[in-house]
Amino acid sequence: MDSRKHRRTADNRNGYEIVKELTSELMRIKEKIAYLVDNHFGAWFEKRKEVERELSDSQDMFCVCGRLATGIHEMNCQRFRNKVNSETVKRLVHLLPKA
Ligand SMILES: [Zn+2]
Repeated sequence: MDSRKHRRTADNRNGYEIVKELTSELMRIKEKIAYLVDNHFGAWFEKRKEVERELSDSQDMFCVCGRLATGIHEMNCQRFRNKVNSETVKRLVHLLPKA
């Protein structure tokens, strides 16, 4: 019932805390990918291919990074790959161990 305290916490969030949060989110995704690759490689591989195709089809001219979205570019683009990875993790969340 202490909503004032919650609001104060939110207001006090500074850049450092936000970056820290984003970084730990990134690490969590990496851990999840590692778990999926180790334990459900087939599912990870198939789903990732599916997501990659889907996201690639959904970008018409430009990639998430702003460059021209050619097939070769997407294969090498870290931002595109990150997007594919995190979307794949999201779709395979049922295979992850319960926290
Ligand atoms: Zn790109």
